[in-house]
Amino acid sequence: MKKLILFLLLFPTLVFGSDKDYYHTKINDADVYIMSLKSFERDSNILIYDSKMAEEYNKKLFPTGKYFTNTNIVIIKKGKNNILIDTGYPDTVKSLENALKIAGLKFTDITHIIYSHIHFDHIGGMLLNGKPTFPNAILYINEYEYDYFFNKAKDKSAETAKTILAPYKDKIKLFTKGIINNEFKEISAVPAYGHTPGHSLISIKDKNTDIIFVSDIFHAYELQMKYPKTAVIYDVDKKQAIKTRLDLLKKYTDSSTLIVGSHTPFYNPVTWK
Ligand SMILES: [Zn+2]
Repeated sequence: MKKLILFLLLFPTLVFGSDKDYYHTKINDADVYIMSLKSFERDSNILIYDSKMAEEYNKKLFPTGKYFTNTNIVIIKKGKNNILIDTGYPDTVKSLENALKIAGLKFTDITHIIYSHIHFDHIGGMLLNGKPTFPNAILYINEYEYDYFFNKAKDKSAETAKTILAPYKDKIKLFTKGIINNEFKEISAVPAYGHTPGHSLISIKDKNTDIIFVSDIFHAYELQMKYPKTAVIYDVDKKQAIKTRLDLLKKYTDSSTLIVGSHTPFYNPVTWK
């Protein structure tokens, strides 16, 4: 019994759950929430190691060859606008509904969706029983991303993107970089091409707080922080994806910018100080 009480004192959230399974902050007058729709083990065989040392390091970290990853999304409430950054996997729609509930929202309340890129694990929540999940939303996609997936690529990921986004085709707007909509100037797009041709980071900031959602810069955070030249099989342009990651590390190391990615094993943003 004593042991149980001690355990409860030390790890209350493990037993009772926590209503803080998410990150929340204010950026100007906007409420910003970051949370994970799904945490799961990913197989290391998606990695393309830059060296034997990187492979050995990963083996030491994850002897089973599986490592933990999140499916993080961002919800921003600002006045009459309710903005979603990425929508997770097709099988995380229910989890997305719960995430919105935490922010006091329903699917129909979402007015804008900004995509970091349109791989299926970022656009997956768009359909519910074959119908649009977000009937009132405008969709923002990077222009090079759109051109690649809708006009150029012939692979399965392009087919999937076209199918999932088909019911929204009249609601898609394109962006390149910078502020996406003047109604929410706190949010801007930062090109970080390579993983996909229009892969973009999403910056949310005011005078005091600076958060950057780095999307798929990391698929294996622990490994790629130490061996950033390690790529993944899903990188469309591996060389460019590596260069982009190196540039990003250089830019934000020792800065106070808060960093979180789609697949970082945490949803509370961190600094690289
Ligand atoms: Zn992804």
